[in-house]
Amino acid sequence: MIAAIKAGEGGLKTIVLEKKSHPCIKLSITGKGKCNFTNSADIKEFVKVFRNGEFLYKSLFSFSNSDLISFFENLNVPCILERGGRYFPASSKATDIVNALIKQTKKFSKIISSFNVASITKTNDLFRVFDDRQKEMSAKNIIIATGGISYPNTGSTGDGYIFAQSFGHTIKPPTPALVPIILDSKHLKTLNGLKLKNIEVSLYVQKEILAKEFGDMEFSIDGATGPTILTISALVGENAGRDMQLSINLKPALTRPQLEQRLLRELEKFGKYQLKEMLKELLPLGLIKPFINIANLQMTKPCSQITKDEREKILSSLFSLKFKVSGVKNIKEAIVTRGGVCVDEIYQNTMQSKLVKGLYFCGEVIDIDAPTGGFNLQAAFSTGFLAGISVANCNQE
Ligand SMILES: Cc1cc2nc3c(=O)[nH]c(=O)nc-3n(C[C@H](O)[C@H](O)[C@H](O)COP(=O)(O)OP(=O)(O)OC[C@H]3O[C@@H](n4cnc5c(N)ncnc54)[C@H](O)[C@@H]3O)c2cc1C
Repeated sequence: MIAAIKAGEGGLKTIVLEKKSHPCIKLSITGKGKCNFTNSADIKEFVKVFRNGEFLYKSLFSFSNSDLISFFENLNVPCILERGGRYFPASSKATDIVNALIKQTKKFSKIISSFNVASITKTNDLFRVFDDRQKEMSAKNIIIATGGISYPNTGSTGDGYIFAQSFGHTIKPPTPALVPIILDSKHLKTLNGLKLKNIEVSLYVQKEILAKEFGDMEFSIDGATGPTILTISALVGENAGRDMQLSINLKPALTRPQLEQRLLRELEKFGKYQLKEMLKELLPLGLIKPFINIANLQMTKPCSQITKDEREKILSSLFSLKFKVSGVKNIKEAIVTRGGVCVDEIYQNTMQSKLVKGLYFCGEVIDIDAPTGGFNLQAAFSTGFLAGISVANCNQE
């Protein structure tokens, strides 16, 4: 849609073809319905966090995070900065972003909804687009912005890969990038829904530490999700079938001597009271029972009778509560798809295909992905912006 706005502003007759009954369904559920549309990080940092980040250099500089914030503020959507550099609409409503975007698109372009593009061909200089009922449209230029293959109910079902392939493009096979992980633990029923803030998770693959992330996480009925987990999830996917463990440091801000001192103080203070009572000082309520079970301790043991060995168990479990990892959830549940149209086959200065003149790509259909934080939407907007102005420039020459 940003591509349509830019091409339309450049004087071209532009049409957005949307398969669903209305556009932006995925956008409306982003950031848990709040839409974390960009990040305050320096653009050079954006390039670093992306897979194939170098490819995005030109587009991110053409339409940066501050340009995107101004774009929405000029459309009367005030924006706010939250923890981790994340930008949201001040109303915390993704629908404000969606409505502003649709309204602006309609000024420069037609939007045809319920148009499910089934195939695209090119004869001479003209593209022909067919929908699944053999309705046909033609155009001088096509921008493929069909997204990835996750959350297929939103309309992103990977069709763009098939269109790109039909024009000779190489597709890096899609795999889940930001996806909940599956844990093998009998405690998940109790832990389901528990959120942990300011913790540090580490991923061990065959006892070797592969990733460490500080932030928040949440347990689910069969595993875990949340920003830290999503960030390490691609590595979990890549190591499927190997021996993997998730280790949660519940007190990452403390050193071992500091935590030991604190524990000794609490145990003394709680004297005749049971261990589970003392742990309320150190852990969220929902974690106490599973913590005691995982650490192999006794719930009702009076604090004054806790042995040195048991103290060690508490300490090491606070620093490293371990869960066996069995894998990742299906790609359909991924926040972002890894893989897609190979970046080597797209001009990064214009987003035009290197194989077919007049064919452009933008957004998640391209083989780019980043951690959570607003980076993926910024990339979709930046590449869309560049594709739009490139089409307009090309057709004015
Ligand atoms: C639950 C969830 C939360 C997320 N939260 C965030 C977040 O807070 N911040 C962030 O940066 N990123 C977030 N993302 C990722 C982000 O939403 C995507 O990276 C981004 O939407 C990609 O934009 P896109 O325009 O490339 O594709 P999409 O948003 O997927 O849009 C593709 C569009 O193309 C249409 N389409 C597909 N095939 C056809 C066809 N054959 N014919 C016609 N139309 C078709 C689809 O219906 C869809 O409307 C989230 C993703 C999910 C699933």
